[in-house]
Amino acid sequence: MTATAVTQRPRTLGEDMHALIAELYPICRSITGDGFRETLRRIQDEIPLTLHEVPSGTPVFDWTVPKEWNIRDAYIKNSRGERVVDFKRSNLHVVNYSVPVRRRLSLAELTPHLYTLPDHPDWIPYRTSYYAESWGFCLTHRQFLALEDDEYEVCIDATLEDGHLTYGEYALQGESPDEILISSHCCHPSLANDNLSGMAVAVSLAQHVSRQARRCSYRFLFIPGTIGSITWLALNRTRVPFIRHGLVLSCLGDRGAPTYKRSRRGDALVDRAAAHVLSHGDGPYTLLDFVPYGYDERQYCSPGFNLAVGSFTRTPNGRYLEYHSSADNLAFVTPESLADSYARCLKILDILEHDARYVNLKPMCEPQLGKRGLYTAVGGGQLPGFELALLWVLNLSDRTHSLLDIADRAGICFDVIRHAAESLIAHGVLAPTDPA
Ligand code: ZN
Repeated sequence: MTATAVTQRPRTLGEDMHALIAELYPICRSITGDGFRETLRRIQDEIPLTLHEVPSGTPVFDWTVPKEWNIRDAYIKNSRGERVVDFKRSNLHVVNYSVPVRRRLSLAELTPHLYTLPDHPDWIPYRTSYYAESWGFCLTHRQFLALEDDEYEVCIDATLEDGHLTYGEYALQGESPDEILISSHCCHPSLANDNLSGMAVAVSLAQHVSRQARRCSYRFLFIPGTIGSITWLALNRTRVPFIRHGLVLSCLGDRGAPTYKRSRRGDALVDRAAAHVLSHGDGPYTLLDFVPYGYDERQYCSPGFNLAVGSFTRTPNGRYLEYHSSADNLAFVTPESLADSYARCLKILDILEHDARYVNLKPMCEPQLGKRGLYTAVGGGQLPGFELALLWVLNLSDRTHSLLDIADRAGICFDVIRHAAESLIAHGVLAPTDPA
């Protein structure tokens, strides 16, 4: 027998992110409990995340850290003992945070506890009952229509009792104490785009940032939606003033175009950086103004904090049919979209890291660039439009315009403007302004 050499191409970053999503997908997460912990422990294999445990009952602003929910099994059995709805087949079948229940019910008594999507009869909806103690099951509309008039045994083998809210945090020190916050909710069970995609992109960003020299400090939060950001803000009041920019990451793997939702401030550097990156990238994109709805930007942008935190998604929450249903599955998210989302986030971070003001040291007429070898080297590896970028940087570097101001006014992408500034500094005609 002859051995055949198997050549395997290495996985792309997009495929790595998709593989992490596939690993985490089966876990039954909620806003508290062991599914959330198990998810963060898996992420600890990727980045050195610190897990924090906040006791149930802890007051956090106008809210209280809830009881901890854990579930082992759940089903609806017909009178023949067959599981007609089975949590073990999909964790979406149980209304997330349902109180424990074990009883026998007629179909008429059971029906008010059942949720379906009649317009999508093969999809299971995702429903929660976090802040009102109740119970229920989600099933496909086809399953519902097949239920006979029978007596059913209903079991939700769960506990809802005092415990902890868990969140994960990874802080990276930069030269400056000014922080960039990257926040991702992790509380949904088997849903891929919302929000395993955001978590996977945040993990890859954290890995990248940890390997780079950095001016800014970074804080990555892996939290349950809403109550997690409220809890973090309540318990970290002294850290909040260091947050200078932030992104809430979610829904980053679907095939839709990228979308950036501005912070409540609307004109913060992160808002301008994101708009710049999207307008200089390939393909369509959407820019949205802030609305007090969505994900954790609602808390970061509440008036008492008003942080410069925007939201980056592809198709935003609630605007795709598959949203909050079993159709938000592993096939709904693609390695290509994940990689594209990651690349755009990196470009936004790059602007936040490198935007600065410079001063032209030879402002009386143009300095002669040709004699410095800066003006004729077209085709010698220089970036397109590089000479024009040099002229823009020289003209506007009067201590008042930053590189992003210049890039926007010139209509040239930030990378090219930054590279031009570096060349001018190397040739002694540009210098950083003194830090304010
Ligand atoms: Zn959601």
